[in-house]
Amino acid sequence: MPELPEVETTRRGIEPHTVGRKIVSLDVYEPRLRWPVQADMPQLVAGQKVLHAKRRAKYLLLELETGTLMIHLGMSGSLRVLPADTPRLTHDHFDVLLDSGSVLRYNDPRRFGSLMYVTGDPNEHPLLVDLAPEPLEEGFNTEYLWQATRGRKVTIKQLLMNSKLVVRVGNIYASEALFRAQVRPRRQAKSLSRLEVAKLTRAVRQVLTMAIKVGGTTLRDYVGADGLPGYFRQKLFVYERAKEPCRKCGTPVRQLTQGQRSTYFCPTCQK
Ligand SMILES: [Zn+2]
Repeated sequence: MPELPEVETTRRGIEPHTVGRKIVSLDVYEPRLRWPVQADMPQLVAGQKVLHAKRRAKYLLLELETGTLMIHLGMSGSLRVLPADTPRLTHDHFDVLLDSGSVLRYNDPRRFGSLMYVTGDPNEHPLLVDLAPEPLEEGFNTEYLWQATRGRKVTIKQLLMNSKLVVRVGNIYASEALFRAQVRPRRQAKSLSRLEVAKLTRAVRQVLTMAIKVGGTTLRDYVGADGLPGYFRQKLFVYERAKEPCRKCGTPVRQLTQGQRSTYFCPTCQK
């Protein structure tokens, strides 16, 4: 599933090809995505210039002159910039044809993704308005996470996966950040010391930044079949490394299940 780093990688990949370009047409081949694509959307967006390519959580926001195209990749969606005459593949559901002769093409075998057009401030949209601070922006800092963890009995791993508190960083990145912060995933959120919260805040940023950086180097095929940026997998300390030696101390990595998701940790490095 595309997580925040993959979506940011996509944003960076499409930005230079879309911003400043005019939309010649929007061609929807399969409107039955997670929510049906509004029938009049092609008329609404044709002729508009793309002003910015932004991201909020896992939504890509293509700001146009009178509104914003909001794209979510769902479980299996991907966007590619291609020459307009590139033949379509199965599961290619819509094309944004640009005046450069390129097309922004959306492919999504499972169709859990979405395409919406919103007018007004997209951050006020019901899907975005209650989202937590972006983990790579200033609002996400030690003080914020400190307040968010106080009095909370939920485990710190699950708190990191709660989109109302922290924009979902994804299972892989939550496990890796906890390893770097030397905090066990099953600890109650409220038990973390101020120092641990500070380390965790930094670790979340580091892990995401690194994932985006390596994702950015493999632009065309930004994810492998397993959804992980190829080069990032080699840098994982614990994720999907159950029983393998910890890369720091050699202790076998342990696996447990939390909220139906697998979590990995080193019983020696993490307290
Ligand atoms: Zn270890």
